[in-house]
Amino acid sequence: MASARHLLAGLVAALVAIGAGWALAPVAQAAAGCAVDYTVNQWSGGFTANVRVSPGSAAVTGWTVTWAYPGDSRITSAWNAQVTQTGTAVTATNLAWNGSIPANGAAEFGVQGTFVSGNGAPTGFTLNGVPCNGGATPTTPPSPTPTPTPTPTPSPGTGCGTGTVLCDDFESQTGTAPAGAWAVSSQDCSGLGTATVDSSAAHSGTRSIKVTGAAGYCNHVFIRTVPGAFSFGRFYVRHTTALPAAHVTFLAMRDTNDGNTDLRMGGQNAALQWNRQSDDATLPEQSPAGVALSRPLPLNAWTCVEFRVDGAGQLQTWVDGAEVTGLRVDGVPTPDVDRQWLTKTWRPALTDFRLGWEGYGDGADTLWYDDVALGASRIGC
Ligand code: CA
Repeated sequence: MASARHLLAGLVAALVAIGAGWALAPVAQAAAGCAVDYTVNQWSGGFTANVRVSPGSAAVTGWTVTWAYPGDSRITSAWNAQVTQTGTAVTATNLAWNGSIPANGAAEFGVQGTFVSGNGAPTGFTLNGVPCNGGATPTTPPSPTPTPTPTPTPSPGTGCGTGTVLCDDFESQTGTAPAGAWAVSSQDCSGLGTATVDSSAAHSGTRSIKVTGAAGYCNHVFIRTVPGAFSFGRFYVRHTTALPAAHVTFLAMRDTNDGNTDLRMGGQNAALQWNRQSDDATLPEQSPAGVALSRPLPLNAWTCVEFRVDGAGQLQTWVDGAEVTGLRVDGVPTPDVDRQWLTKTWRPALTDFRLGWEGYGDGADTLWYDDVALGASRIGC
């Protein structure tokens, strides 16, 4: 993500490089000035972290990033990198597609893990063996210091900003059955799935929607609303079972420009995905490289999911504020990502919004939803 600061930094670095007469050809070594930003999202016993690696003024054609945890943090999965851990030492290596980072560019990957006694800030970041963040030894605190944010639950009353066509924290629900703007929906058939107003878990206030979803299509259940036009959405979800290998859906939206079929967000191969019911196209493509560009949802933690779906066929997805690169349709076919999606012209017109659970074979989950917002611009977490 380019920023004015990064552009300025890049310009300064380029001028310095020219002035010093340095070679600008790509090299595999990391130059001094590499930086690793480690941003953690932590809850009781678990965490995810986004890791952004910048080589500095010299490009790299492959990268290995290492760090050490001071506590007993244990990585359980990763995306956009091959990650191994021995004791407290972690080694992350690029995948085939993201090894090259241009001068003053950056690559991002993520990890998910657990801990028992503590999940302290990692130290001793290196890129291709070179200490980063200005640190000479692992005992020197990196600068800028990675800043863990131990805030598992944002404060109640998460806002919706202005201009939303829907902003609901479910606090006005007084019964067990969702009412007002919402109704329980199970098209075609219904079975074991249930969706109720619940007070055992809430992201804001004391109420949320609890969905008990069972395997098998007819056990699907959603809460449905028919809002005004929207191209951005935000909701918080807390689920209890990892996304399965089988295809599942937890968000469905009717597309009147696509034969009144559903645009679906859910999971497959243990990672988030979008699915277009009309032709069963998936985003990302379900190749190993495609799946690696998506990510799982954190378990037993409120997670902020945001999306953009506009009438021009652009689609973007964010989890806890970070864009998921495998969940982006940008109009330029990218192998493993949106190549399959772009094989037909898609100009969505979404006319309803349904949160719940729908499995097609395997896949059951109990999950909660709260703080839903839909609008014409990005709402944020
Ligand atoms: Ca609530």
